[in-house]
Amino acid sequence: MSAFFGAKIGSSEQDRERVIQSLMQTLLKKTTKVKPIHSLKGRNKATAIRMMAVFALDIYSRSAATPDARCTRCKGRGKTVDRVLFQKTGEQSWKDCDKCKGRGFNQPKWSTISTVLLKLAPDLNHKQFQRQIQPLIEDMVTVLNIAEAEADRALHHASH
Ligand SMILES: [Zn+2]
Repeated sequence: MSAFFGAKIGSSEQDRERVIQSLMQTLLKKTTKVKPIHSLKGRNKATAIRMMAVFALDIYSRSAATPDARCTRCKGRGKTVDRVLFQKTGEQSWKDCDKCKGRGFNQPKWSTISTVLLKLAPDLNHKQFQRQIQPLIEDMVTVLNIAEAEADRALHHASH
């Protein structure tokens, strides 16, 4: 668990690698249902799985803490003034930022990984990527967020 926590604050390469390895284990099991990936051989398969793990970690570690990933439109707040409403009512109200969807930080582009994965796995098509691979990666981000919350709790508990 501390490995996950360390990955976020970027403490060590070793921690990061441990997280990637554990994500890869999970992804290997989960992709047995995704034939174009499952049927890949040797190094290609390892590369494809590793890319997915690294991409998940990339999305996860961008969450607000990293200044250079901060959304330029809302400056990391995740909210912008609703101009339409402002013009109508004169009241300042906030809405989720359109650019980052309220996250406050820019996500890495899915196209960067889909392009490479589609090349690596010739049987994979874009629709499969969106329907099967993307949700898997998003699941991994959730796993990382849960692990971080648990590590936070453990840390909090230890200091009391
Ligand atoms: Zn934004």
